[in-house]
Amino acid sequence: MSSPAPILSSMKVDGSRNYIIPADVHGRWIRLRRLGFVALIGFYVLAPFIPMGGHPMVQLDVAGRRFFLFGQTFNAQDFWMVLLLLLTFAFGLLLVTAWRGRVWCGWGCPQTVFLEGVYRPIERFFEGPREKRLRQANEPWTGERVLRRVAKLTAFLLVSMVIAHTATAIFVSPRELWLMIAEGPGTHLEAFSLTTGFTAILMFNFTWFREQFCVVLCPYGRLQSVLHDRDSVTVAYAEKRGEPRGKAHKTLETGAPKVGDCVDCRKCVNVCPTGIDIRNGLQMECLACNQCIDACDEVMVKLNRPTGLVGFASQTELSGGARRVVRPRLMVYGALMLLSAGTLGVSLVNRTPFEANVFRQHGTNPFVVDGEVVRNAFEVHVTNKNPAEARFSLALTAPVSGAEISVGTPTIELKSLTDAHVPVMVSIPTSSLSMTPVELTLTVKDETNGSQRVIPVRFMAPPMHH
Ligand code: SF4
Ligand code: SF4
Repeated sequence: MSSPAPILSSMKVDGSRNYIIPADVHGRWIRLRRLGFVALIGFYVLAPFIPMGGHPMVQLDVAGRRFFLFGQTFNAQDFWMVLLLLLTFAFGLLLVTAWRGRVWCGWGCPQTVFLEGVYRPIERFFEGPREKRLRQANEPWTGERVLRRVAKLTAFLLVSMVIAHTATAIFVSPRELWLMIAEGPGTHLEAFSLTTGFTAILMFNFTWFREQFCVVLCPYGRLQSVLHDRDSVTVAYAEKRGEPRGKAHKTLETGAPKVGDCVDCRKCVNVCPTGIDIRNGLQMECLACNQCIDACDEVMVKLNRPTGLVGFASQTELSGGARRVVRPRLMVYGALMLLSAGTLGVSLVNRTPFEANVFRQHGTNPFVVDGEVVRNAFEVHVTNKNPAEARFSLALTAPVSGAEISVGTPTIELKSLTDAHVPVMVSIPTSSLSMTPVELTLTVKDETNGSQRVIPVRFMAPPMHH
């Protein structure tokens, strides 16, 4: 087996960039990945434009502190739920990485999804396959080649502009986005600068930087060595079966016939988007894209040998041990993920589409004795988190007779994500006040959908001597 490459695969020995041009690949994994790319690109690009519950499916109105996600409306007070969501995602990522390596990188990360699902096919369309481009790299430029390069970069620019505008639509509504486009950059200089800046970053990233993002920049990529263990199942080369490698007709130096299944065709290396040779063992640059598996399987089928020379294995399996799936690391990550997801799920199910709190009015005495009744002044704070306008009513439940509530307005009407402070006066006849304080409950009901919140309220009164 050859020794591991001493430098990054995407770097030449003189330190300059070794621009990776992966070869075309065919097989079951690439077919599956393309299906995933279509679904994910559809989601990433269309989510801010598809209406759900009266708002876009995904809109993060940071300026207005309103967030619309899958038909639910959130405000800044719900930020803890976003933290729970991020925790669920983070623990899920830890779990998947410890179990199957960098599958997120190869299958779900927007960097891969857009590079392999959009930019690379465009490049292939205008500039042809790897072999042609490698050949042309040593030939003088022709008019046709210049034209093809210009057409490719124009297509890249258009795609980058679409993605950047989609990203802007996440923060403003699609309607606002159209208005901004119609009114021109002069009127919306800030949004225009952000969108242009993002387009430039996309162009830099997808035209030139590419796999460098995954190899040298992404912090998650840098953490792989601590997230993996010897039982993590990754893309791996079956060294015992493949070595000694060489063309089928070759013999070993000793004169013995070659016995390994690897014919050293380097197809697994040529299709690799990070340019590594998986036969050198597990490497941090491996994105678990499975392209080398497809490439090698194709070779094995042609040679009439069993597929899977490049397949999936853990380090333990490669050194002769048995695959161990259930292990403490996975159980801890899994439990933490389920805990965050469960807490989030329960919070969402029990969530009322409004907030309601009761405060004692500032600057007033806790109670006022007015002849035969005692009064307490409160203030009810209601926030409507419904995606549309809603009507709220208040009702009082008291364990004593004669308790009355008087509200400034009989019903409180609120537009989506607006709030109101409503003064409320509660009166109880002194004849009912043998014991103080009195524990009351105030029910705030959303008349538009029937959901309600029951809030305990303490009624204060002076000691009564009947
Ligand atoms: S080694 Fe194989 S799985 Fe890993 S990045 Fe390269 S082609 Fe993809
Ligand atoms: S594709 Fe398979 S046979 Fe060809 S070099 Fe890679 S491991 Fe060896």
